[in-house]
Amino acid sequence: MAQPANKPPLGDSPPESNEAWSQAIRDLCPGCGLCCNGVLFATVRLGAEEVIPALESLNTRWESSPDGKAFLQPCPAFRGQHCAIYSERPLKCREFHCGLLAAVAQGQMTLARAQAEIRETQRQVARIEAWLAQLGHPGSGQSLSRRCRQCLAAAHDNSDEAVEIRAELMLAVRALVQRLSSLFYNDTDKYT
Ligand code: SF4
Ligand code: SF4
Repeated sequence: MAQPANKPPLGDSPPESNEAWSQAIRDLCPGCGLCCNGVLFATVRLGAEEVIPALESLNTRWESSPDGKAFLQPCPAFRGQHCAIYSERPLKCREFHCGLLAAVAQGQMTLARAQAEIRETQRQVARIEAWLAQLGHPGSGQSLSRRCRQCLAAAHDNSDEAVEIRAELMLAVRALVQRLSSLFYNDTDKYT
């Protein structure tokens, strides 16, 4: 699917103030969570002066770089398919609205189709999770991309079965990245 046109400019008037956007968020996000659970993003970067006390009190893991401070996903505030600090969430979280959400809010895609796309994405993620577990890399509180990279880099088992699973894993990750790029990411987002 092509990226939906006329996405709201990041940081401009919040789409939540628009009823169509609010409704799309209510309809789609609770059944998804892919932008908070470590599938779409490995980290969430804070602004230079940004401090989120609510995150400090959680078991948040931080990473510093010349670009600033970021916290690791899966986000500790993501609980029961909801953001536990929604009213205090970082600017980056406020600004992000995935392509599917934008398409539904702007009437370019039906809600049913968007929900089906989310389910298919979750199904692909579940397959990758199953292979990671088979290869000895079960959930470790890291993003899916980092876990896949670590698993493929530490490929010590050269049995036929393990080699076959790793090949399947690589293909599945490639397909997932294409799916995330075409349906979810905005122009400046990328799989890291
Ligand atoms: S990826 Fe999109 S639909 Fe899913 S929770 Fe995030 S904004 Fe909502
Ligand atoms: S702070 Fe809330 S919106 Fe931001 S990544 Fe965490 S759960 Fe998602």
